[in-house]
Amino acid sequence: MNINDIKQVSILCPNKYCNETILYEIKAPARSFAIECPSCSTKFNSQVVVVRSKRSRGKKVDDILSIRDYSVRVWFLTGEEDLFEFSDSAFLKDRDFELRQRDVAIFTYLNNRLTIIQNLTINRYITFYSYKRELGKTCLILLSVFVGIFFLCGLVFVVLFIIQIINTPELLSSLM
Ligand SMILES: [Zn+2]
Repeated sequence: MNINDIKQVSILCPNKYCNETILYEIKAPARSFAIECPSCSTKFNSQVVVVRSKRSRGKKVDDILSIRDYSVRVWFLTGEEDLFEFSDSAFLKDRDFELRQRDVAIFTYLNNRLTIIQNLTINRYITFYSYKRELGKTCLILLSVFVGIFFLCGLVFVVLFIIQIINTPELLSSLM
């Protein structure tokens, strides 16, 4: 596909609870496009590029974590060139993403973090949601649940204790 022929692209919303496909019209070539999802109002930036070359190298950190380093050389719609370098860390699996020369790809950034890469030529995408952040959130929820249960148990114990005292007149009089 010729760079100048790219006039309309389907961009995935990077909000993972939305994942709406947005039909975006490219009015003028630019390095980056500021987009607002019509469905969930999430604001993000996307770079529409043509792939020049891609290299990726995977390395195993331990039994759980593996990291893949990518370096992708691209052409922007403006004709400018750039080199994208980023890493993908994935638990339990080492994944690779196909980006071949002349493929049209979209790099989408949410809060300046690479979140989705779409390969429009083969109609595939890869997401880079933060596993660490997800893990932290899960731990916090579990902790809240445990603290909640602990306080509830304490409350039940106090109530039962008071009832016991009221129901035992001799204990009550000895306390007075
Ligand atoms: Zn959305």
